[in-house]
Amino acid sequence: MSVPVVKLNSGYEMPILGYGTWQSNPGEVGEAVKCAIDIGYRHIDGAWVYQNEKEIGQALTEKYAEGKIQRKDLFLTSKLWNIDHEPKNVKEECKETLKLLQTDYLDLYLMHWPFSFHKTEARDIIPKDDQGNVMYTYTHYLDTWKAMEELQKEGLVRSIGLSNFNEYQIDKVIAHGRITPAVHQIECHPYLNEESHLKYCRQKGIAVTAYAPLGSPTRPWGLPEEPKVLEDPTLKRIAEKYGKTTAHIAIRFQIDRGVIVIPKSVKSPRIKSNYEVFDFQLSSDDLDAIRNVNKNWRGLSFDFAGKGHKYWAWHPNYSED
Ligand code: NAP
Repeated sequence: MSVPVVKLNSGYEMPILGYGTWQSNPGEVGEAVKCAIDIGYRHIDGAWVYQNEKEIGQALTEKYAEGKIQRKDLFLTSKLWNIDHEPKNVKEECKETLKLLQTDYLDLYLMHWPFSFHKTEARDIIPKDDQGNVMYTYTHYLDTWKAMEELQKEGLVRSIGLSNFNEYQIDKVIAHGRITPAVHQIECHPYLNEESHLKYCRQKGIAVTAYAPLGSPTRPWGLPEEPKVLEDPTLKRIAEKYGKTTAHIAIRFQIDRGVIVIPKSVKSPRIKSNYEVFDFQLSSDDLDAIRNVNKNWRGLSFDFAGKGHKYWAWHPNYSED
């Protein structure tokens, strides 16, 4: 079975279901990726900052050698980290990811966040000064975007996009850039359904990828009292009706809205189960019932590192004027 695709404004097709790799540790991620490929996933979502691209690249190369897949069968996404927003760094960093993934092009390269950090010699992921303050730089995301456009022009990446931006920022990229972003990758699940933003993206011709589609239950800063998407009573009721799990319902919720979705697991039964979402479809009443559980609850605002920066997307009344 092949996964349905979403046609991007760049002309390329992106499988609507992908395989997430954040918090998939070296030592486990390679086997997990190979398992995902065997099951049928052809879209892999990664990022330099996940620090596991080398093992993913090795796993893919082993799969090519088995003759199971070719590079052209895959859709590989990576993301430019906040320490590399300086236009002069962008190409070098993209090339590093290409080398780690053992490929000569990416299908999609995203700017991971709109704000930037100082690049230390040790390339700290969140660099801090002696007082513990995050070391920001103020490279404008538009300048970074223009450098990413060059990557597309050179063929190092087929499509470029954004992640964790607001509409003011996306409007600015569209108005001043040469290329409209192909994809916006955002946190999106039944407790943060982003209906209005999906409409905005549709109008602009931007495809949306939902990250944390299960509510990212094991993100490091999660608190026990926080809402748990997979335990939602409405999702449980609907899951029972379809003979499915709440994870299936949360994944299918995105697919039935035309949203690309990238659940992560390193456990083979779950990798397999999360793929089993193409033998049913949610009714429009059930989609509405899921829309109604929305809480506008954001689990991954990254506020502890981003809130002090003016380009963090979720400042109330965001403006750069
Ligand atoms: P998620 O996919 O919502 O949830 C992943 C967690 O759920 C893992 O702890 C996994 O544990 C568990 N899980 C997976 N399948 C399950 C199932 N069927 N039943 C119960 N639990 C299940 O969260 P996420 O990893 O944060 O987001 C998905 C992907 O989006 C990431 O991996 C990454 O590729 C991307 N992402 C992007 C950004 C961004 O800023 N652009 C931010 C976050 C994530 P096990 O692994 O132990 O199974």
